[in-house]
Amino acid sequence: MPDSSDADLIDGRVLAQAVRDEVQSAIEEWTQSGRRAPFLSAVLVGDNPASEAYVRGKEKDAAEVGIETETHHLDAATLQGDLLDLVNELNADPSVDGILVQLPLPDHIDEQTIIDAVDPSKDVDGFHPENLGRLMRGSPRYIPATPYGIMQMLSRCDIDPEGMDAVIVGRSNIVGKPLANLLLRRTANATVTVCHSRTQDLAAHTRRADLLVAAAGQAAFIDGGMVKEGAVVIDVGINRVEDSSTERGYRLVGDVDFDDVRPRAARITPVPGGVGLMTRAMLLKNTLKAAQLRAAPE
Ligand code: NAD
Repeated sequence: MPDSSDADLIDGRVLAQAVRDEVQSAIEEWTQSGRRAPFLSAVLVGDNPASEAYVRGKEKDAAEVGIETETHHLDAATLQGDLLDLVNELNADPSVDGILVQLPLPDHIDEQTIIDAVDPSKDVDGFHPENLGRLMRGSPRYIPATPYGIMQMLSRCDIDPEGMDAVIVGRSNIVGKPLANLLLRRTANATVTVCHSRTQDLAAHTRRADLLVAAAGQAAFIDGGMVKEGAVVIDVGINRVEDSSTERGYRLVGDVDFDDVRPRAARITPVPGGVGLMTRAMLLKNTLKAAQLRAAPE
């Protein structure tokens, strides 16, 4: 049972449902005006069970809000050239609004080459250099879903980052770096520090954070002693830890030691039920945007 002095939960279930409802009504309006439903084409290479589950989840989410999908499931041995041919076909296909290539790709395929090949106007993941460049310049087109979801969580909970010391732990291209850019924008105005595996004295940085974002992929490694009293704590990590008491033999935990940190924080996201759900919802928003851009190019 949470203590009354514990942090308020930032509930990803409620917030993601609100985003999905908004996308669904926008799509209803869109199709009622005679337009076809947004169309998302997913590409999955190989049989990584986690990737398969992610793609199934994305198909289900999309169907619920009225987005049509197709999934190209390619063999793990697919050659890079053949994958590029498929991406180019999807780029040229006017019925495809958004393209999503599920990562990671098998080792013999260069991920960067594939990401670079996706038409930036269909790049709903926001990973293409043109979209990352636009984000860095302050005029984003597609914002990568996880940092986009975090910014939405903050605004939907009336948490204004202006003037906050924001500390992000993790410098990946899909979470840490784009999130740093979003928090630096004039619409957010946080002062941002990005920590990583070579940061000296990580706790000295995290302890002064008004807004702490943990995205390192290390199970429960942020403890209460690393968190400032009254901080907003956003836990991006999704880590499997062995747990023989569960049917699957594992459970999912974040990068934050939730029970230890909750009494110190003002607001905190749980795992599961936090950032991951927002990430899924933001892909739907990006796909709707892709359809809108196709109908009225920039
Ligand atoms: P990544 O492996 O690409 O990057 C991890 C980053 O953390 C690196 O920059 C590394 O320098 C830093 N790091 C690692 N150990 C550290 C330590 N001990 N101290 C300080 N920094 C450290 O990971 P990623 O793709 O950004 O994902 C990070 C975590 O977030 C993973 O658990 C991943 O599963 C999860 N994730 C969740 C979502 C979501 O929707 N909730 C989305 C993407 C990633």
